[in-house]
Amino acid sequence: MSILITGGAGYIGSHMVLQLLNEQEKVVVLDNLSTGFHWSVPPCAIFVKGDVGDQELVTNIIQDHQVTAIVHFAASSVVPESLRDPMGYYYNNTAKSCALIRTALKQGIKHFVFSSTAAVYGVTDTFVVTEDTPKKPISPYGSSKLMIEKMLSDAAASHNFNYVALRYFNVAGADPEGRIGQSTPNATHLIKVACQASLGLRPYLEIFGSDYDTTDGTGIRDYIHVSDLVAAHSATLCYLRNGGRSEVLNCGYGRGSSVLEIVNSVKQAANRDFRLKYSPRRAGDPAALIANTEKIRKTLDWRPQYNDLDLITRHALHWEEHLSREACAKDNRLTARVI
Ligand code: UDP
Repeated sequence: MSILITGGAGYIGSHMVLQLLNEQEKVVVLDNLSTGFHWSVPPCAIFVKGDVGDQELVTNIIQDHQVTAIVHFAASSVVPESLRDPMGYYYNNTAKSCALIRTALKQGIKHFVFSSTAAVYGVTDTFVVTEDTPKKPISPYGSSKLMIEKMLSDAAASHNFNYVALRYFNVAGADPEGRIGQSTPNATHLIKVACQASLGLRPYLEIFGSDYDTTDGTGIRDYIHVSDLVAAHSATLCYLRNGGRSEVLNCGYGRGSSVLEIVNSVKQAANRDFRLKYSPRRAGDPAALIANTEKIRKTLDWRPQYNDLDLITRHALHWEEHLSREACAKDNRLTARVI
């Protein structure tokens, strides 16, 4: 019996693989390596390069490895990119997930964990949102994920199939043991970008909007450590295996941090100053988005261990330093070869 992790070579997926291997689970990773890295998958996990929309391939994986549950991370997840290429997002996220769910149902898979997002809420009337807060996504990315939630709900209503959609808030940090982290070259997420600025890899950090109606005028988000996020997925698998019913759960800590608080935390972790550039608000950014976490805490046996902003930024910075050292070593090897 094994668990299929789609997108298991990506940022969050690769942390999930480590977590499950640690729990002695058998893991099969399916990843097309469009943004993930083969090196981030440990050799003791089975790796298949391919697409979640390839029904024949997924059928073979499920049968060959006796897959009993699917954790579905594979997706395009850059909000501004989704505004430029909406159909690409509906195709890659929604259409391919439809194919994956169809294959799962045909093959009798009963447990499915889905990476959803707080982007399904869009701009809300309140800073803290419950799962019932009206969903008004303002990006094709958010809409593409909300449509998958709907498909899962319809699938569960008519099949012996239970799912949990975890709506991620702002995922950050890296493996506390330093084995993996966010490695996408052009990532735009605040903590990663701030770490790069602190290492001199960017000339400054751009702050998008300082005139929000928040404590210091900058945007507020609920940042969750990636290791706690994947622990929530493990708890979800346990919940489903114990007969838990289908649910949608906010996945955050329920605590907001402003952009300036992040900046200060990164500066402290790096023990270095870096330039800030104040820019206008970014299109589609809400002032604040914080999870109401009552439901996830009641539903899952999940105890976050890294609910500490300074720890999150420290782990993110360690990983960024590692990437930067690797890049330098590669440059040196190339230079040595040229000489
Ligand atoms: N942000 C920023 N500068 C950046 C990246 C992000 O000021 O270079 C702000 C952004 O406007 C938001 C918060 O940081 O208020 C989190 O943005 P991020 O892109 O990390 O995640 P999002 O909440 O958009 O998914």
